[in-house]
Amino acid sequence: MISILMYHQVGDFAPMRTHRANYCDRRRFAAQMGFLARFGYRVLSLDQALGVLRGERPAPPRAVVLTFDDGYDNFADHALPVLQRHGFPATVYAISGWLGRRAEWFAKDPGRPIPTLMSAARLRGIQDAGITIGSHTHSHARLAEVDARTKRDELTRSKSMLEDALGVPVQHLCYPFGSFDHDTVHAAAETGYLSATTCLRGGAEVLIDHPLVLPRKAISYGDNLLGYWWKVAVKQAPTETLEEWRETMRESVAHLS
Ligand SMILES: [Zn+2]
Repeated sequence: MISILMYHQVGDFAPMRTHRANYCDRRRFAAQMGFLARFGYRVLSLDQALGVLRGERPAPPRAVVLTFDDGYDNFADHALPVLQRHGFPATVYAISGWLGRRAEWFAKDPGRPIPTLMSAARLRGIQDAGITIGSHTHSHARLAEVDARTKRDELTRSKSMLEDALGVPVQHLCYPFGSFDHDTVHAAAETGYLSATTCLRGGAEVLIDHPLVLPRKAISYGDNLLGYWWKVAVKQAPTETLEEWRETMRESVAHLS
């Protein structure tokens, strides 16, 4: 099993009741990374994890992948220095149409500060520091709810814009809001993405999970180290939705490979 962990913002936040999986206190984050280092976890890049999941390289016993959705400035401020201290790889999913802007969607939720998203220059900076940049679509679209043309446009436009900005292939995708359907997966394959992460809850299993429908584990503001250990290390029975997707992808895998 590979635990693909999902983070959003890392920083100083007043305790909140809702959207807790969008926040991680920076001290807790440092403690979590220290925990992974101390207990011998292997933090893999997404490319390394894909090799393991395809059965091409041996699976380390305690494998973890770190992913950060939306591309907030506070990743570079607070998460990156900790990752660098430990030499941990990570992936940041950027929204190509929102680079350098305030995440205005937070305004819908009064009382929550509106964070800013990394600019193209800042993304290049974290890429130079060893971080992989993936796509989180062009406009943070709910891909299961838009028509076929919009799906394709969101996937191709973000890929090519990020590639222009970064000068490297962008091969990893994350479905905003965890919203995707079968057509989305086909469009992602045709656009040339090698992996796509979801909000399906669970550990990713070798030769079971399709690279374009990868389950993750959301780290919440409330997770202390015991809760963190439980999420990272303990294997849970797959949720019904995850099982359904595994079945669906087994049936359609011939089309995609
Ligand atoms: Zn997002």
